[in-house]
Amino acid sequence: MFGNIVRQPWQWILILVAGIGCTPVYEKAMIGQEELQTTTTESAGIFCNRFENYTPDQYSLIRTIRLNFHIMRTADGTTNFNEAQAKQYVRELIMVCNEKLADNQPMNLPEGNNTPALPTKIRLVLWGDAATGEDGIYFHDDDSTAWFNKKANGGLYSLGDQRPFRYATGGDSVINVFLIEHHWDSIRNNPDYNPSTSGVSFGKNIKLFGAYHNRYTDFYTNEGNLYNKGPWYYSGLLNHEVGHSLGLSHSWNTDDGCDDTPKNPGCWGNTGVPPCDGVTSNNMMDYNGCQCAITPCQLTKMHFNMWKENSSQRKVVDPVWCTYSNAQKVTIPRDSTVVFDAGRDFAGDIDIMEGATLIVRCTVSLPAGARIKVRPGAQLIVDGGLITNRCGEYWEGIEVWTHRKLEISGSVILSNDGKLEMVKSFLTEEPDSTL
Ligand SMILES: [Zn+2]
Repeated sequence: MFGNIVRQPWQWILILVAGIGCTPVYEKAMIGQEELQTTTTESAGIFCNRFENYTPDQYSLIRTIRLNFHIMRTADGTTNFNEAQAKQYVRELIMVCNEKLADNQPMNLPEGNNTPALPTKIRLVLWGDAATGEDGIYFHDDDSTAWFNKKANGGLYSLGDQRPFRYATGGDSVINVFLIEHHWDSIRNNPDYNPSTSGVSFGKNIKLFGAYHNRYTDFYTNEGNLYNKGPWYYSGLLNHEVGHSLGLSHSWNTDDGCDDTPKNPGCWGNTGVPPCDGVTSNNMMDYNGCQCAITPCQLTKMHFNMWKENSSQRKVVDPVWCTYSNAQKVTIPRDSTVVFDAGRDFAGDIDIMEGATLIVRCTVSLPAGARIKVRPGAQLIVDGGLITNRCGEYWEGIEVWTHRKLEISGSVILSNDGKLEMVKSFLTEEPDSTL
């Protein structure tokens, strides 16, 4: 399939200056646009839109979701967390959420499953605004947005009431989480009103109910031990609502498009009473006491959404792929063949080791300052894919290495309409600094 290669004479530019008294083993040269080998066939890259290819792996960047929090209080400023309480609570909540996301558990269901518990590569961060010094926790003393009443079917204080969202901050770049209390009068006047741990996602806005009440109420276990339903108790719920915002559906009662999330009775835990007397679900998108297992299919869906250009999910991810980091170097191991058949955002160089082949079939984004190193005997094949920068800047270019004694070089091949864009070394003059 690479039969029509037109080989150009390689015009190496020596960029390594020989050290005193020794000759370097390698020549390293930035490849020029005219030096690229290209082939053309009829098919082009069709891999980018296959969501099933977006399973996070060792090359995937961690996606960090930006959150702001809003403490909704009555006009007198009481009825919910005060400032000191909120700062402590929210930070602990995010910490526990991240512990769960970092410790993905094997699925309980179906019984006997061998569904892998992959690293989620998803974390949460309290965002705020570095420019103004805002810490991301906001207080709103407003009677019209202070309550949730689960008995209200619509309008004020109902589940669907969007009045609180007028206080959202950060535009499209942050998910706003509103901590709203169950209406105290409703609790007092209705003995059967359960101020439960619950929430709802409206995409970039999330409501969590009853966090304050449950944090500062004394509960007792069956053995008589005192406990409260603090941040750990709400962590599964917040991750669940963020899961909705990232594109996941419930799994126990709906077809969520995943084969690895079986329908189930939706038990909070094992009560000993049918149907909750056997193994119960621990999946994040079910209602249960753990919400600590996320399947490969669920991860794949979220990561695909966070990849898609202009998706609401991508906008709330901290764009670390726009800032070069030495620590984020991607290494393609010696003599291996690695295929990127899904979109990739990287925050550092790609180093293709000796004898290795990297095949790019979708889009790879590199930050300004990053380069691809193609070591002797290594190959970079852009097979219908695109290597570019998704931040409006230029990445550095491709550095091809030649072993002087062995006369072995790395090679770069564009096939099936493969493209390199936003390459600084291809420019004839310095890029416009306003870009
Ligand atoms: Zn839900």
